Amino acid sequence: METRSTCCYCGTGCGVIIESDGARITGVRGDPDHPANFGRLCSKGATLHLTARPEGRALYPELRMGRTEARSRTTWDLALEYAARRFAGVIRSHGPDAVAFYVSGQLLTEDYYVFNKLARALVGTNNIDSNSRLCMSSAVVGYSQTLGADAPPCSYEDLGLADCIFIAGANPAYAHPIVFRRIEDARRANPGLKLIVADPRRTDTAAGADLHLPVAPGTDLVLLQAMLHVLLGDGLVNWEFVHAHTTGFDAVREAVRDMTPAAAEKICGVPSQDIVTAARWFGQAKAALSLWCQGLNQSTHGSHNSAALIHLHLATGHIGRPGAGPFSLTGQPNAMGGRETGAMATLLPGHRQPANAEHRAEVARLWGVPDLPERPGKTAVDMFEALGSGAIKAIWIACTNPAQSLPEQARVRQALERAEFVVLQEAFRDTETAPYADLLLPAATWGEKEGTVTNSERRISHVRRAVAAPGEALPDWKIARDFALRLGRHLERPDAPSLFPYFHPEQIFREHAQTTRGRDLDITGLSYALLDAQGPQQWPFPEGASAGTARLYGDGRFATADGCARFIPLTPSLTAEDTDARFPLHLTTGRLRDQWHGMSRSGRAALLFSHDDEPRLYLNLSDMLRRNIAAGDLVRVFNRRGETVLRAAASDELRPGQAYVPMHWGRRHLNSGGANELMPSAYDPHSKQPELKHAAVQVERLALPWQALLVRSTAHAGQALEWKARLQPLLSCFRYASLGLAGAECPALVLRIAHHEPLPEALLDRIDDCVDLDGVQCLSYLDPRRAVRKKALIEDGLLAGIHLAGETAAGPWLKDFVIERRAADHIRRWLFAPLATPPEGVKTRGRIVCACHGVAEPDIRRAIAAGAGLETLQQDLRCGTGCGSCVPEIRRLLRVEQAA
Ligand code: SF4
Repeated sequence: METRSTCCYCGTGCGVIIESDGARITGVRGDPDHPANFGRLCSKGATLHLTARPEGRALYPELRMGRTEARSRTTWDLALEYAARRFAGVIRSHGPDAVAFYVSGQLLTEDYYVFNKLARALVGTNNIDSNSRLCMSSAVVGYSQTLGADAPPCSYEDLGLADCIFIAGANPAYAHPIVFRRIEDARRANPGLKLIVADPRRTDTAAGADLHLPVAPGTDLVLLQAMLHVLLGDGLVNWEFVHAHTTGFDAVREAVRDMTPAAAEKICGVPSQDIVTAARWFGQAKAALSLWCQGLNQSTHGSHNSAALIHLHLATGHIGRPGAGPFSLTGQPNAMGGRETGAMATLLPGHRQPANAEHRAEVARLWGVPDLPERPGKTAVDMFEALGSGAIKAIWIACTNPAQSLPEQARVRQALERAEFVVLQEAFRDTETAPYADLLLPAATWGEKEGTVTNSERRISHVRRAVAAPGEALPDWKIARDFALRLGRHLERPDAPSLFPYFHPEQIFREHAQTTRGRDLDITGLSYALLDAQGPQQWPFPEGASAGTARLYGDGRFATADGCARFIPLTPSLTAEDTDARFPLHLTTGRLRDQWHGMSRSGRAALLFSHDDEPRLYLNLSDMLRRNIAAGDLVRVFNRRGETVLRAAASDELRPGQAYVPMHWGRRHLNSGGANELMPSAYDPHSKQPELKHAAVQVERLALPWQALLVRSTAHAGQALEWKARLQPLLSCFRYASLGLAGAECPALVLRIAHHEPLPEALLDRIDDCVDLDGVQCLSYLDPRRAVRKKALIEDGLLAGIHLAGETAAGPWLKDFVIERRAADHIRRWLFAPLATPPEGVKTRGRIVCACHGVAEPDIRRAIAAGAGLETLQQDLRCGTGCGSCVPEIRRLLRVEQAA
C-alpha cells in the first residue's frame, strides 16, 4: 500500500510516499508530485521508515501516584480522569495561570488548534507555548514588526529565480538539505548567481559559497547594518520603492550612518571589503533572496537580526518579485501551523495578538465563549522558570523534550522535579523528559495520524495516515479533546462538549480555517478534498480562489494599517554573554547532517549514526594546542551553568576562540546533558527566543585513563534499540559515556566509556547482560593485574560483539568487524591483542560520508588522489548519487585533496 504524506523532520516539508503492508511501514520515498521536493529526500527523510518501529514507543498510558514510585500501566479512562482531576484541583485552588501547556512544532495544525482552544477557551490561561519558541519566534517578530504580519513572502521556486542568494545564520546543506539541492540546481542553471553565506563557521554551505562572511558569533546585526550603510553610499537604495511603500527609513538611515564597513569589521570580524562586496552583489542583483534560520533567530536580539535583514530587502525593493524577498527557514515540520493557529503565548489564531482586545473578542466570538484571558502567558523559558518557582504547578507537555532542548538544563530539570504534576504526551517513552512524567500518554506519530502541516513557504499539505498507531497510542488532537471534555466536567463547564465537538481532524481544520477569514493568511477556500485534488497549496487561499499564492506583497501593499512596510529602529547589541579570562571560548551550536533536533526519532535509525557516531566538541587547532588537547582526547567543557564531557576534534571550520557542539546530543546518548547544559536562558525581549547559539565556556583536557568499548550487532532490527534502552540508565555510572547506534542492514550498538579508575567487575557484567554478550560462543580474556577484561562474541562464525575494558587499542578496527558482522575466522587470534592497526590484509572502512551507499571517507580520498572528480566519484563509488546530502562534503574533500 502507498500513502502520500510529508516528512516529519524539518520545515522544508518534503512530500513522501509511505509504503506499508497495511500494518507496518515498510519503506518511504520522495513524492515526485510534491512541489517542495519533487521526489527528492535527504538522508533523514529517506530513512524515516527505519524509525517506524514499535521498540521504544510509548504503547499505553502509565501513571504514578507518588514521585518516588515507578509509573505503572493504566487505562485511558483512568489516566485522563486523573489528569482532569489534578488540573481542575490546581485551577480551583490557584487559578488558571497555575497550569501550562508546552506543545510542539511537531504537532499537526489540528492538534495545535485543539490544545490552544483547551488552554484559552476552557482553562482560561494564555500559558500555552510551543518549542517553536526556540527556533523561529524571532523571525515571527521580525516579519510582524516590518511587514505587518508573520508571513514569509517567498516560495521555493524563488531559489531558481534569484541571481543573488544571501544565507545568514543557516546551514541548509545540513539542516534543510532539499532547499540546498535547489540552490545547487539554481547555481548550475545560472553560473552568474552569487551565493553569499554569513556564518561564524565555515560550514559546507559556507565553504561552497562565492563569498563567506565569517561573522563573529552574535554580531550579525552589525554586519547587516554595515551592508545597509554600503547600499546607501553606493546609490543602491531603491528610493522609488522606499518612498512609495515604506515608512521609517530616515531614522534607520541615520542609525547606520556611522556603521562603516571598517567600523563593522572591528566588531564583527568580517573584512570590510567583503562587506562591501556582499552589499554590492545584493544591491546590484536583479533579484536578491535571503534565507535565514537559527543563527539569526537564537539570539538576545534575534528579532532585530531578522528585521535588519528584511530592511535590506525593503531598501532595495527586493521583495514581492520573482526571486526576491526575505525567506526564513523553519526548523520544524509544522512550526508554521503553530503560528497560524496561534498556539503560542504571544499569538492568537489567525495571526492575532492576545494583547489586542479586539483580537481577543473576535476569537472569543468565533469560539462561542464570553471572553479570552488578557493576562500575558508564559513563554517557554519563563514557563519552566515559573514551574521551578511554584507559580505554575501542573504542566502538560506534548510531543517535545524540554529536558534536552531548553537552555540551562540544570534549571529545567529542577523545575520538572519541583512541579506538582507533569503530563507527557509522547510517541517515544525514552526521551530525556520521560523520567519526570507523572503521567505518560502514548501519542500516535508520523505515518499514524491525519491532519495538515504548513512548510516554510506557507504551503499546506494533507498528512495522511498509513498504518494504525501501535498499542493504545492515540492522535494528539484526540488526547487533547478527551482531556478537555473531562476537564470541562470537573470545572463545571457545560459548554465543553460544544467547544470540542470533534470526531475527525477535518472538522478541526474547517473551524481553524474560519479563524483565518479576512486575515492575511485566509485559508477559507481550502479543504482536505481540495488538497487531495489539487495537491499542497500556499496560503492565502480564500474562499472562491482557484489557486494558492506563490508570493506576497507583489502589489507593494503590506499588512499594516497604511499598507506600508516599516523600517524599525534597531540598536546593534552583542550577545548576552561575552567571553572573559575565565571562560575565554565562544561556544556555538548547530546541526549534524544526519540527525534532527533531540534525536527522539532520528536516534532510532542506526544508519543515521554512520556520518557522526560520537558526540564531539570541535575546536580550532590553535586552541587545542594551547590546552594540550589532541584530537580524540576527552575534554570537560564548562561554565557557570554546568559542564559536559565530550571527545575533542579539530575543525578548520572554526576560528581561534570558537568552539562548536552539535545541538542534538543529550542524556540518552551521553552521561552529561550536551550543549544545552551550558547555554544561557537569556532571551530576546521581543520574541522571547532564548540565545541557544552563544555561551562563554572554558575547555580543559580530562585525563580518564581507564576506557572501555562495547560494540554489539544484531541481525534483528529493533534489538539494538532494546539494548540501548537497557543501557541508558547505566550511563550515569561513568565519568564519560556515549551511547549510539551504528551499521545499516544489521544495526549495532556502540557504548564508549571512560573513567578515572577501573570499573568493578559486577558493573561490567551488568553491561554485558544488557546486550546479551554471553553464552558458549563468547570468548573472554582476563588480566586482573592490569584491570583488563575483554570479551568477543562469535555467532555462526561472525563477529557479533566485543567488549574491550581497560585496553581498547584494537577497538576502532574491531568495531568495523562487528558492525559489518564479518567472519571472525581469520582474525580470531588477534581478537584480544592490543593491535592499534588491523593485521595485514584486513581492511577497515573509516568514517562513512555517503550514508545511502555506505561510501567511506578513505575510499573517496584515495579515488580523488588518483585523479577522480565529482562525476567519476559518483560513477565509480556511487557516493552522492542517492539523496545527495553528502555532495557538499564530497566537494569539500575534492577541494582539500586537490589543494594538497
Ligand atoms: Fe525531511 Fe530532509 Fe525534506 Fe527536511 S529536507 S523535510 S528532513 S526530507
